[in-house]
Amino acid sequence: MSCLEDMPHELFIGGKWTPADNHRLLTSFRPSTGETLATVAHAGASDVSRAVAAAGVAGRPGSRWHRMSPAARSRLLHRIGDLILDHADRLAMLDCLDNGKPLRVARAGDVPAAAAVFHYMAGWPGRLNGEHVPLYTGSPERHLALTVPEPVGVVAAIVPWNFPLYMAAAKVAPALAAGCTVVLKPAEQTPLSALALARLTQEAGLPPGVLNVVTGDAGTGAALAAHPGVDKITFTGSTEVGRDIVRAAAVDFRRVTLELGGKSPNIVFSDADLPQAVAGAAHAIFYNQGETCVAGSRLYVQRPVFDEVVAGIRERAAAIRLGDGLDRDTDMGPLISAEHRVRVLSYLRSARDGGAQVTGGHPPDSPGYFLAPAVVTGADPQAPVVREEVFGPVLVAEPFDTVQEAVAMANDSPYGLAAGVFTRDLGLAHQVGRRLRAGTVWINSWHVLDPALPFGGMRASGWGREMGRAGVDAFLETKTLVNDLGSHQW
Ligand code: NAD
Repeated sequence: MSCLEDMPHELFIGGKWTPADNHRLLTSFRPSTGETLATVAHAGASDVSRAVAAAGVAGRPGSRWHRMSPAARSRLLHRIGDLILDHADRLAMLDCLDNGKPLRVARAGDVPAAAAVFHYMAGWPGRLNGEHVPLYTGSPERHLALTVPEPVGVVAAIVPWNFPLYMAAAKVAPALAAGCTVVLKPAEQTPLSALALARLTQEAGLPPGVLNVVTGDAGTGAALAAHPGVDKITFTGSTEVGRDIVRAAAVDFRRVTLELGGKSPNIVFSDADLPQAVAGAAHAIFYNQGETCVAGSRLYVQRPVFDEVVAGIRERAAAIRLGDGLDRDTDMGPLISAEHRVRVLSYLRSARDGGAQVTGGHPPDSPGYFLAPAVVTGADPQAPVVREEVFGPVLVAEPFDTVQEAVAMANDSPYGLAAGVFTRDLGLAHQVGRRLRAGTVWINSWHVLDPALPFGGMRASGWGREMGRAGVDAFLETKTLVNDLGSHQW
């Protein structure tokens, strides 16, 4: 594959490409075929230590990065965003091959979104001002008090495989905007575009050690999360691993941001524009093979239009063309791995065994980890397919009668990442939106994400917000400086 020629495959530490200390390798597979795609270095604990040390040196007081003006930092972030766009075809190809997603989706979605995060975050370095704070209990003449935002320090960024380049950008860009240094750990399934991003930051002139990349598996991530040289962990991934991260961070109280799983509800009222609601609900669950944390996986439809909406979604699901991401006609690629497909199929089997009606959900008789999109009705509300995150193209639909019932069903979940409301009544949409326990509520839409919009979850979907000002603040500490000017009597 031409996009793999000259691809870096070693660890990126202190601005240099280096093999793992123990020379272990990690193999990345093509989910469309199951074939080996590439081998990269598999970082162990000593490599993680080297990367954390390099990040610590690069960000320490007096370093080039520490002294760099906000204007220069901003220019660097802009340049990285520009370089991502300059290399968009290659980056899209890497994520297509590594993750399986359609090339045209990666090219039109993931890559421009990654560039946009860098371009947006480039606007922050010059705007991270503190405040002059008048003392509430003191004399305004005697005390001069200031708050100063400071970078939190060395950031461990641990990301999953579903949007490999975008997830890396979503962590690295705000951390750099805040003046932090980063050790990035991409998912073991999709290490390639993070390495390509590292090379672009090198080309942009980012000082050595400001971004380091350690490719590896869960063990590499655990070593990074537990490293005492890390000041902040920003993690996107499963709720289960999120718990491990919190435990690791609790040892010495390191800062943590968590973007975890979801089981996002989508409510369709009978007055909705039904073709729009059908298209929106299908997009909500089937985009990116359903492997999105914000997938609209629970659909609640008002009873009078339930059959029509579900039939419309089933029709759309049946028309989705599964295939190799390189094929321009492909709408949906394979799932990430054989094990993941087995897991998704087990949810469908238990739904059928429990008496639910399932359409679709069959693996085609071809190589790769493909799975036809599925729509489930009549499932027991306590069934795993209704309660748990499937992380695949599986929609569970149920009817409701009243607004109160819809809100109660939607909120009956340990998660709280995203939700949707389809109705022509905007008053109703906003009132219901305010009642839903979710970090983002989409009205007559889904998957509208933007670098300016705070994004994150409630409850088991995580802690904190990424993007927007909140996303930069997550990488800052507030220092309070208080000066006693004395009590002059003149
Ligand atoms: P995962 O939690 O298994 O892995 C995510 C990353 O963590 C990988 O890089 C992995 O190597 C690393 N890791 C695994 N065990 C670790 C440990 N003990 N300590 C430190 N690092 C460890 O998740 P996954 O299966 O790769 O990704 C799918 C999950 O990610 C889903 O649950 C999905 O909802 C979630 N996700 C959430 C968001 C969001 O923004 N909320 C976005 C995308 C994906």
